[in-house]
Amino acid sequence: MVQPPADLEDTADVVVVGGGSCGSVLAGRLSENPDRSVMLVESGPGHRIPAEFPPELADAGILPVGPGSGWIWPYPVELTVGRAGWIARGRVLGGSGAVNGGYFVRAGVGDFDHWPASWSYENVLPYFRAIETDADFAGPWHGDAGPIPVRREPAERWHPVSAAFAEAARDAGHHDDPDKNAPGSHGIGPVPLNIRDGVRVGPASAYLLPHLDRPNLAVRPDSTVTRVLFSEGSVTGVEVATGDTVRMIRAGAVILTAGAIATPHLLMLSGIGDAEHLTGLGIAVVADLPAVGSDFSDHPEVVLPYRYRRPVARTTRTPALQVTLNTDEIEMRPYTASFGDLIPGSGIGKPCLGVVLMKPRSRGEIRLASADPRDAPRVSYRYLESVEDRKALSSAVGHAAELMHAGPMSRLLDPEPVELSGEWLADRLGTSLHLSGSCRMGTDDRTSVVDDRCRVHGVDGLFVADTSILPAVPSRGPHATAVMVAERASTFL
Ligand SMILES: Cc1cc2nc3c(=O)[nH]c(=O)nc-3n(C[C@H](O)[C@H](O)[C@H](O)COP(=O)(O)OP(=O)(O)OC[C@H]3O[C@@H](n4cnc5c(N)ncnc54)[C@H](O)[C@@H]3O)c2cc1C
Repeated sequence: MVQPPADLEDTADVVVVGGGSCGSVLAGRLSENPDRSVMLVESGPGHRIPAEFPPELADAGILPVGPGSGWIWPYPVELTVGRAGWIARGRVLGGSGAVNGGYFVRAGVGDFDHWPASWSYENVLPYFRAIETDADFAGPWHGDAGPIPVRREPAERWHPVSAAFAEAARDAGHHDDPDKNAPGSHGIGPVPLNIRDGVRVGPASAYLLPHLDRPNLAVRPDSTVTRVLFSEGSVTGVEVATGDTVRMIRAGAVILTAGAIATPHLLMLSGIGDAEHLTGLGIAVVADLPAVGSDFSDHPEVVLPYRYRRPVARTTRTPALQVTLNTDEIEMRPYTASFGDLIPGSGIGKPCLGVVLMKPRSRGEIRLASADPRDAPRVSYRYLESVEDRKALSSAVGHAAELMHAGPMSRLLDPEPVELSGEWLADRLGTSLHLSGSCRMGTDDRTSVVDDRCRVHGVDGLFVADTSILPAVPSRGPHATAVMVAERASTFL
């Protein structure tokens, strides 16, 4: 590889790669120390103040991730054998957290049984509290001084489908669940949201933009890291492409927060991954870590469409989701609008109820398609490969159909018929876009990529601190857990 000339070199103490949910937290927190220079490199465009955000990034009632969106990385994927599709991840300062549904709920207590011991629920609770200011609940589980505002929609503001679904769930014997961020939460209740006055307040707005005037913090938008650079097993910096210009940033520490697809992609391009896979593509191996890109997990989702029996209005800035029903391994989501309205350009017209497997056993894989950084990696979800997953999802769809035919729902809407066969499920299969665990945290360098302090095994100065290091996808949406991980990781440097 041709090295850039010296006048195209920058230096920083720490380079953070990817200004998404986790990268925004890390750059914000690490630059609190005025003696440390921090450079954040983001592939997508940057905005300096929330007021500069275009309306579709601000409005929490819209997810600007449809075809043609200027704020995403589109990745071709295979969801299950023979069923190809594509998924979106955020590509803008704020990352996926700047385009997501605004549902900000913690992982369950039991999820941490599968994390390294130093990440027990007891140990992470102070960080969950530190990231938020909860407007509805106080006490030992909640924060009152953190950057992310958390609130729930009061019942009087619920959309008719939220109210009808909650009533049907209660009639069917499900418990009220007023606080989904309290230990032991299950049942029907309002979702915690990081939305204020209809506007998403993601990690970029909360942790980063207020501090852009710090002299020790530099942000490089529209710049894509193409390789991490090493010398004798230690990090020396990164190679960055901005348009046609290639630049090197020298740094003593590099933190990868490029997200659960781009982080393993970048590691493999840089020589860290399964040695056989890398040498097959002519990439020199820096560290043989077969868990890079292996055994990731995500929430498979089947949507059950319906039509309203009477016109139902949605006010602007209504969140996509106001209530959910959670059992041990299932989440049901009565979306407040059709995906066509939520995701402009997606072409999916009908309103629907989402039925989601929250503790999937099937595991997916990310592998390089080539050694060229411009080529997207291959992402194989392998959804529903596990018989237990197929059974659990099929049984959940059956229960969801019962709820949709129960009085409160059936007075409002007319559901399409469902079938419970594997083929029917596979035809309607989607993903919640919660991909996690593609560079898992753990002790063993055969089955994990980073240790419990987010250090890449066997490489000095290289850290990963995004959703790729979660040992598995949490049994709730991952966003709050991702922010907690980044908040805690910022204390490790
Ligand atoms: C459409 C959508 C809706 C979602 N809704 C919810 C929800 O409501 N609730 C919930 O809990 N979770 C939700 N999620 C998931 C959640 O938002 C993500 O899990 C979380 O934001 C991921 O954080 P991250 O920091 O790991 O990655 P990201 O936030 O994706 O950040 C990665 C950043 O790195 C940048 N990047 C990538 N490669 C490079 C490179 N080579 N060089 C420089 N920069 C690079 C990207 O442009 C991006 O900005 C949703 C996700 C999506 C996509």
